[in-house]
Amino acid sequence: MLEEDLHRESIVPELPDVEVYKHHLEAHGLRKVIDRVELRSADRMLGDTDASSLHRRLEGHTLTDTARHGKYLFAHIGGDGWLVLHFGMTGYVAYGENSEADPEHNVLVLFYKDGSHLAFNCRRKLGAIALTESPGAFVEKKGLGPDATSLSENHFSGLLKERGGTVKGFLMNQELLAGLGNIYSDEVLFQAGIHPKTRLDSLDASQRKALYRAMQKVIKAAIKAEAEPERMPDDFLTPQRGQRNAKCPFCGGPPKRISASGRHAWYCPCRQPEPQS
Ligand SMILES: [Zn+2]
Repeated sequence: MLEEDLHRESIVPELPDVEVYKHHLEAHGLRKVIDRVELRSADRMLGDTDASSLHRRLEGHTLTDTARHGKYLFAHIGGDGWLVLHFGMTGYVAYGENSEADPEHNVLVLFYKDGSHLAFNCRRKLGAIALTESPGAFVEKKGLGPDATSLSENHFSGLLKERGGTVKGFLMNQELLAGLGNIYSDEVLFQAGIHPKTRLDSLDASQRKALYRAMQKVIKAAIKAEAEPERMPDDFLTPQRGQRNAKCPFCGGPPKRISASGRHAWYCPCRQPEPQS
């Protein structure tokens, strides 16, 4: 297995990761004729899309454009419609000049006429492959909230004001806000100095503003770092995840782990005081 594949297998893709895959697709997968499509043990990832439609819509055609909404990646098929990929817990996109590098868990491989290929690798098969008429139609059908990078500060503040629950749960709820998962919601809260269990109705205007700004800052920095933790800014908590002697970049103390909204939230009390209940 390639080193990159080993690395990617340990990452649960969120918006910045998917944006990196979108760049891969743009750099290597567009405007080349797809000769052949292989689906491998991908049945349960297809949902109501049937395999023969995928072959028919892709083979002999080119991908002409890309789009992303939250954690979903879209590729416009020259002939008709869009291919949709969702990466689940373990997915990534890899490009190869030839078919030698062909890891075990490729579930969808596009073989191009020029001999190169683009593969969707998904070890745990919790992702999805679909066809849609347009990204907008797909987003509506799935009931996804606005993409975390495209909504305004006012829109974001409005969403926060309208509901209860914890801020961590809100940030990860794809129907309210599309794109963030466990890792980046923790980083946004760390950068904003807000405890994961803080209730939405207790946030004041300055905290809502801090949260929005932190979200934009974190996503931008993570995309710039190509979603590689070791390339992220020094004041980020994300690179410390999974480290044996994890240290908060501000106080040097160990970050704390708690259960919040059904997931483990990681935070540091030096910046994120426990909410008064
Ligand atoms: Zn700290």
